Amino acid sequence: MENKERALDEGIIETAKVDEMTIKQRLINKAANLAKSGLRVVVLEKGNYFVARDYSALEGPSMFELFEAHNLLMTHDGRFRFMAGSAVGGGSVVNWSASLKTPDAIIEEWSVQRGISIFSSEKYKAAMDRVSKRIGVMPRNSSDEHYCGSCSFGCPTGEKRGTDSTWLVDAVNNNAVILTQCNAEKLILADNNAHKRRIRCLGVTASLSNQTRKKLQINAKVTVVACGSLKTPSLLASSGLKNPNIGRGLHIHPILMAWGYFPDKNSDFEGVAHEGEIVTSLHYVNEMDSTTPNITLETPAIGPGTYAALIPWVSGLTKADEENLITGLKQAVRILVAAGAAEVGTYRSDGQRLKCDGKKKEDLEAFLQTVEAPPGFVSMSKYWTHSFTAHQMGCCRMGATEKDGAIDGYGESWEAKDLYVCDASVLPTALGVNPMITIQSTAYCISNKIAELMEKKMKKD
Ligand SMILES: Cc1cc2nc3c(=O)[nH]c(=O)nc-3n(C[C@H](O)[C@H](O)[C@H](O)COP(=O)(O)OP(=O)(O)OC[C@H]3O[C@@H](n4cnc5c(N)ncnc54)[C@H](O)[C@@H]3O)c2cc1C
Repeated sequence: MENKERALDEGIIETAKVDEMTIKQRLINKAANLAKSGLRVVVLEKGNYFVARDYSALEGPSMFELFEAHNLLMTHDGRFRFMAGSAVGGGSVVNWSASLKTPDAIIEEWSVQRGISIFSSEKYKAAMDRVSKRIGVMPRNSSDEHYCGSCSFGCPTGEKRGTDSTWLVDAVNNNAVILTQCNAEKLILADNNAHKRRIRCLGVTASLSNQTRKKLQINAKVTVVACGSLKTPSLLASSGLKNPNIGRGLHIHPILMAWGYFPDKNSDFEGVAHEGEIVTSLHYVNEMDSTTPNITLETPAIGPGTYAALIPWVSGLTKADEENLITGLKQAVRILVAAGAAEVGTYRSDGQRLKCDGKKKEDLEAFLQTVEAPPGFVSMSKYWTHSFTAHQMGCCRMGATEKDGAIDGYGESWEAKDLYVCDASVLPTALGVNPMITIQSTAYCISNKIAELMEKKMKKD
């Protein structure tokens, strides 16, 4: 029972829980195991491993433990909050489990107009079927009766079939090793003797964020980057890759929300009111395959903290309160300047800031004159809005040529041989529907291709 509950135990090294010697010993043991199998796979994940009994179903701790940047990653203008999972299983641990296949119009656009053949192949359609089967789609990846209401903080009943309880279990059953709290830092790149791909990827360096702070070097025949659209581009660019498509072309599905208040006794609603499920309904405003962009209505679960942060409120601040806020804020800026900051700023949506180098007292005072206490996100002066997005795509897109994309139609970097990208960042555009199935199906095709190539290579060697 215990092992079934912690399905990755066979292959996982949770670095936060073991000391340096134990990590070494376990790696040696694992390496011996790996040697028995044909291909050796090591998965590096900067987050931790959680299973059903670990989830608190509480919003605060869940945001802290399971999300990228504790779920506080915003665009510069404060308009969008980026929600992305960060744990073994990534976004699939916390997502709302709507499981939709890639729309035909998108397949057509990517395969015909953009010339990326992987999407036109029968293999891609078969991959979507295979993915849907593996993660139990109907069309959400948990059972019909499932009704926990907390899946967006990790599923406490263990029913949701996220990557951590499906694909990674398959990987571990095939002798893969997963290292947690392990941050991939730099790809190891070398000259490729003037071949078409000018460099070769030989692996990756990483560091453990556990108490040992150990640096690791993983030498690999093939390296697959799958840090998600927000993090993959920075790993590629900081390793020295130059393709101009890296970090460009981020696509998101922006979300705005409406609320309704239904006092029990006044409700005329006939039928079942769905409360607490992960995604209770999904409705397209336009026909699915029309040329107009898709508008989808969904009802995801939102915790009270997020709700409170988003809901408009009428300020109870008095004029005196406002003035106190401004005085306090100015004082804080003065303290930062006095402490020697190179640049100071407030959290106003326009990124209000002052570069301190060479500035005189009068410059600071002039800046402080502009410091104010702006209205909250959702009370909105004319151009304010607050929105968020849980779907980030693009940024290392596939392209039929090096000019069109950072990676080719099979996921390999146009610049670096043996370096693959295998996450949402490879998608050429936004697809207008929840992307999990598309990401997993694309990853499925890419990984099959890698396995094929490796098999050929091994036979040759
Ligand atoms: C709250 C929420 C609800 C959602 N609801 C749905 C839904 O209902 N249906 C749907 O289809 N999609 C949904 N999504 C979107 C979907 O989950 C994501 O699009 C998908 O998980 C992205 O997959 P990915 O492989 O690109 O990256 P991710 O799943 O984001 O995985 C990237 C992983 O890489 C790790 N990482 C990053 N950098 C490093 C590094 N340097 N070293 C080591 N590890 C690193 C991260 O910790 C993370 O675990 C939702 C997402 C969220 C956040």
